[in-house]
Amino acid sequence: MQIKIQNAVLELAQGDITKQDTDAIVNAANSSLLGGGGVDGAIHRAAGPQLLAECRTLGGCATGDAKITRGYNLPARYIIHAVGPVYRDGTQGEAELLAACYRRALEIANAHAWRSLAFPAISTGVYGYPMADAARVAFATIRDFLTRHDTPQLVRMVLYDARALQTHENSMREFFAMSAEN
Ligand code: ADP
Repeated sequence: MQIKIQNAVLELAQGDITKQDTDAIVNAANSSLLGGGGVDGAIHRAAGPQLLAECRTLGGCATGDAKITRGYNLPARYIIHAVGPVYRDGTQGEAELLAACYRRALEIANAHAWRSLAFPAISTGVYGYPMADAARVAFATIRDFLTRHDTPQLVRMVLYDARALQTHENSMREFFAMSAEN
């Protein structure tokens, strides 16, 4: 499923973020940037040990912020390591922090004039953010950014399993008030 926003496209796809051939992929990292499970573990395994070596030089990353590295053995040339919030009860600034890390990743892509960027569903795994809520925050932030900037022109949200894709498709229809035929 995809939707046009100005001259850009926001698309949902099921798959593995490490396989994406976009200019950059986003990692759902933790603030140490020294590796973890989930997407982070998969990205480090696929990129190779040089990634951890570069991450060690970065001095970590605050929640809501993002830092860039090379992609090493990945098809994508760069990785933007974004640190999403741990979800507690929704009243601890989680939505603002989640929006901030999407925005920071988009700003980095824009500053490099990259055409395409792939995101995983940040914070929706170990960090426990309810997926439909996280999807709305992602859509609002991406829409806001793409209406004001020329790049990236393709933003792909890569959902790991069929259920995650379904949840995002439902949220996308609702958020953009699209009909089920889209
Ligand atoms: P967080 O700590 O930010 O919650 P996780 O890595 O635990 O990050 O999970 C984030 C989301 O990424 C989850 O929805 C999870 O199912 C999904 N995911 C896990 N592995 C991959 C992968 N290889 N590609 C894309 N998405 C993935």
